Amino acid sequence: MKQIKSIKTKLLIRIILSFVVLSIVIQAIVFISFRNFSMNTSKERALSAAELIRDTITSFMMLGVYDKRDIFLDRIKHTSGLKEIKILRGKAVIQQFGQSNRDDKPPTFLEEEVLKSGNIESAVSEGVFNVEYAIVIPYKASNGRVNCLQCHKAAEGEVLGAVSLVVDITQQRRTGLSIVSYMVVVSMLFSIGTLYIIYVFFKPYTELFHKLRLGFEHASIGDFSSHRVDVALSDEAGDVARGFNTMTDNLSATLSSIDNKVSLLIGYQTEKTANALKDTTKTVEMLVKIYNFKRTIEKDAIKSDVFLRIGDMLMKMGIANFSVYEVSLDKTKLKKVVSKADNEICPSLGQINKDTVSWCNEVIFTEPVQCRAVRTGAIVDSREFSQICPNFMQVEEGQTVKFHYYCIPINIGGHTGDVVQIISCKDCENPTASVIPYIKAHLKECEPVLEGKTFMELLKAQSLVDQLTGLYNRRYLDEINSGLCGAAARRGTLIGILMIDIDHFKQVNDTHGHGVGDTVLKQAASVIKASVRESDIVIRYGGEEILVLLVDATEDKSVEVAQKIRSNIENESIETPTVVLKITVSIGVSEFPKDSDKFWPCQKHADTALYKAKHEGRNRVCVHNKGA
Ligand code: GH3
Ligand code: MG
Ligand code: MG
Repeated sequence: MKQIKSIKTKLLIRIILSFVVLSIVIQAIVFISFRNFSMNTSKERALSAAELIRDTITSFMMLGVYDKRDIFLDRIKHTSGLKEIKILRGKAVIQQFGQSNRDDKPPTFLEEEVLKSGNIESAVSEGVFNVEYAIVIPYKASNGRVNCLQCHKAAEGEVLGAVSLVVDITQQRRTGLSIVSYMVVVSMLFSIGTLYIIYVFFKPYTELFHKLRLGFEHASIGDFSSHRVDVALSDEAGDVARGFNTMTDNLSATLSSIDNKVSLLIGYQTEKTANALKDTTKTVEMLVKIYNFKRTIEKDAIKSDVFLRIGDMLMKMGIANFSVYEVSLDKTKLKKVVSKADNEICPSLGQINKDTVSWCNEVIFTEPVQCRAVRTGAIVDSREFSQICPNFMQVEEGQTVKFHYYCIPINIGGHTGDVVQIISCKDCENPTASVIPYIKAHLKECEPVLEGKTFMELLKAQSLVDQLTGLYNRRYLDEINSGLCGAAARRGTLIGILMIDIDHFKQVNDTHGHGVGDTVLKQAASVIKASVRESDIVIRYGGEEILVLLVDATEDKSVEVAQKIRSNIENESIETPTVVLKITVSIGVSEFPKDSDKFWPCQKHADTALYKAKHEGRNRVCVHNKGA
């Protein structure tokens, strides 16, 4: 059964029940009292009539006009409203005078009882439509003031006869019922009136409860503004309503103040729903996450760790497809550092290769300015203009654009240093829009950290690079030689060590000046760099000496490379502002670990070979332990 919840309904049901019970009880009491009263009155009247008849009949007997009794009885029957009058003869009288000559009905049970017992008997018979009261009183033989024994042959006290009356009291019952009916109507009207007054009085209070209930329901889900409790009550109930409103206003103001302050702190306005409580909790939770994120990335040793952390953060935010790009320090290259593409979450991707998937045209990797986010330093959002970036791969004439892209630049020292690209599938339900403020807030925290780490890396790189030639310096060699040798030993490969020295360089300086000497040095360095593989390491070892490490060189390949370098230098015409020069170099070659299982002894062997090459006439290659 449905539970009755409304206080108004409960109150009305209780009051109605009380009224119904009260009026039933009162009406029952009134009905019973009235009935008893009418009964008693009728009984007394009937008894008086019966006694009157008995005494009058006695008088008729004494006066000797007993034969006139019927006239009297008919008369009294009409005037007293009696339904029936019977004069009954007892046994002694019947024996003395015979049966009565009146055509009375045979005696009833009640009448026989009275004739037998000599006591007054009465009975009420109630039918649906009428009520009758029957009373029978006895005649007893007496020899007092009226001496019955003068005429009757009977013993004293013997029952001579009886007077039996039947009185119709239907009218009394009817009167009683109509009085009760009036009372029912009056009490109903009174009840309805009282109920109406109670209803009108309690209405504002029940409304207050109703509004309070709605208000609390909405407040519990964080909605403080849509259900104010406005009631026109100036008593304690009104105070409760005003107290509720003040409480919700304060809560709402406090929550929105927290939210605004947090938004200011994280730098973005977060998405609002109808639930201020949930919004604030979510914002504060996010603030804690952002704080922890910042503390974590600050402790990361290198930038690539930070990029991985950004990837983790995006995955936790439910982003299925994304890439992170890094612009090189000299801003000439862009490379993808982290990426993810999930074709389970995003079926529109089809059978993609998660590792190689690329969302942008190749050109951005060699010309970073072709990336709109890099060039403008502003967010690129395809939801505003679907083809905003021409280098997003989906943008081809006639092709349906299946994906949205949202590229967020990370500012490093006044330029775009990195770009976070978020891809969302147009057909999939994904949380991108709602989490973007939080992603931006995280990335904002990344900016100073990435900036710091970028400059640290730049500084370190600069301290390891020779300013004049752009080659690595000796410090760099100190840093990498052991790692390089360890890796080569593990792989079982060789490192070719070439010590290169420009022949008669002092003369260049002496003849054409240091400026020309510098130009020659720079040019020689770039020829050497161009003569080896990208993975080989070229180091300015000192003055005009250059060391080349040929990583993973094959046996005897080093000498070939050395010859190639020597030949390329020899064939190079070096243009300086004043003169075009030709130079030669001498090269000493050794191989790690063939010549020694330690790097520095190997380098020494190359140096010795170089000395030998010089000694043997210059512009040549000498290999350790071998001839030219
Ligand atoms: P060799 O064929 O025996 O090597 O003769 P060399 O003249 O090249 O040898 P030497 O060691 O006598 O001279 C090296 C010269 O290189 C001396 C120095 O002035 C010059 N030098 C070293 N570093 C630089 C530099 O950075 N710029 C310029 N212009 N000259 C440099
Ligand atoms: Mg030298
Ligand atoms: Mg030299």
